[in-house]
Amino acid sequence: MDARHSAAPEKRRPDLDTVFTSREDGSRNSIQVADVRGRFQRRRTLVNGLLIAVYLSLPWIKIGGSPAVHLDLPGRTAHLFGATFTNQDFYLAFFLLVGMGFGLFMVTAIFGRVWCGWACPQTVFTEGLFRKVERWIEGSRQRRIRRNAAPLSFDRIWRKTVKHAIYLILAAGIAHAFLAYFIPVHDLFEYIRSGPAGHWTAFGWTLFWTAVLYFDYSWFREQTCLIVCPYGRLQSALVDQDTIVIGYDPARGEPRSKKTQEGGDCIDCFRCVAVCPTGIDIRHGLQMECIGCANCIDACDEIMDKLGRPRGLIRYDSFRGFAQGKRRGLLRPRVVLFTLIGLIGVTLFATVAARRTDFEVRVLRPRGMPYTLVDGTIRNLYTLKIQNKDMEPHTYLVTPIPPEEGAQPRFIVAQPEVRIPGLETAEVPIFAELPRSEYQVAFPLQLAIRDSLSGDELRATVRFVGP
Ligand code: SF4
Ligand code: SF4
Repeated sequence: MDARHSAAPEKRRPDLDTVFTSREDGSRNSIQVADVRGRFQRRRTLVNGLLIAVYLSLPWIKIGGSPAVHLDLPGRTAHLFGATFTNQDFYLAFFLLVGMGFGLFMVTAIFGRVWCGWACPQTVFTEGLFRKVERWIEGSRQRRIRRNAAPLSFDRIWRKTVKHAIYLILAAGIAHAFLAYFIPVHDLFEYIRSGPAGHWTAFGWTLFWTAVLYFDYSWFREQTCLIVCPYGRLQSALVDQDTIVIGYDPARGEPRSKKTQEGGDCIDCFRCVAVCPTGIDIRHGLQMECIGCANCIDACDEIMDKLGRPRGLIRYDSFRGFAQGKRRGLLRPRVVLFTLIGLIGVTLFATVAARRTDFEVRVLRPRGMPYTLVDGTIRNLYTLKIQNKDMEPHTYLVTPIPPEEGAQPRFIVAQPEVRIPGLETAEVPIFAELPRSEYQVAFPLQLAIRDSLSGDELRATVRFVGP
């Protein structure tokens, strides 16, 4: 078999000039990640389990009668931990995204790519589910490499078939859970029970996401981090000398020597490379491909334990810590700046969201017909739109406010009291009339709209116009 197209990983060492997961001819160099145990693996298993549980349970948890997180696209409504947002509140997403984005920048400036290694769904599902299934069905790294390089056999076929069948089930499960953020859980179960015929759109999306997730988690894997995700590329702009990264201590490790009695602490055993899910050698320094998973720390600590040397040849530390052994400072200009902007975003979001009323009003005029003049009376027609943004029905009282001075038009409100079901909008026609003889110039009019339950009041201003 042509070595370049072999399923076994290439026998070359990762370097800084090439991408280890790609061969010279551009084909994929699939890596087989070795098993690793250690304190960070135990913590990551816990964090992965917790995050997967949160992901699966959020659509089930009800706060204020609606799911904790639910995006109702046809209804143009979003439910977020008890608060309901309509399309009118869309601008708030800007503040929230600014807050969350700069919050992530702040975390990156302090802790490097902790998001990638510990919380990103790409890592959480790959390491927390798919890679575990692979190890369970196909065994250790050495077994997988041996089996993949051997001729096709019954043993290899059944293992691959079972593994990919489980992958498909997992991908379908994650896709359904994703859909539950858009379709309420009981509706989703109803869709599943009744089959795809009545719900082709939902079925199509489920198939699409199942295919994408299966492709990603079964084959594409680290390539998503290396090729697709832009966050890794931002890393160099966000970190500084005091950012905590995962690195190798060359002062301790070099010169490497396989003879344990000579050289530095690194015995060039290659364990840190074998366990790396992106196939890099951390001993070359921080690289864009490093997702901060801490596999190499546990792997190297294991070796150091066996050699009876102190742990931490590969460890969490800052560049300054590795170079000078100095303690890292937390209050740096970029950390302060990112924190401030993030806090401003979150505070604005929380303040504006808390001060919102549960309803919105808007007044429209008929196009091209600002007024009519009949029997010496000017008449203006307005359409008052009231949007109930709450889940419950509300009753609204519409009261025109007479101008404090000048002409006093007569109002005709078609429905002075309007009951609107939850998350719906109603239109109320309103007329204002004024004898032609009393009209001199256009003037403003005000309408007060009061929620009879909460007492909240909004005012809408319109203009009375005439010839
Ligand atoms: S695991 Fe540690 S000792 Fe082994 S090659 Fe990596 S840095 Fe060197
Ligand atoms: S270099 Fe270490 S921390 Fe970075 S991705 Fe590889 S194993 Fe994970």
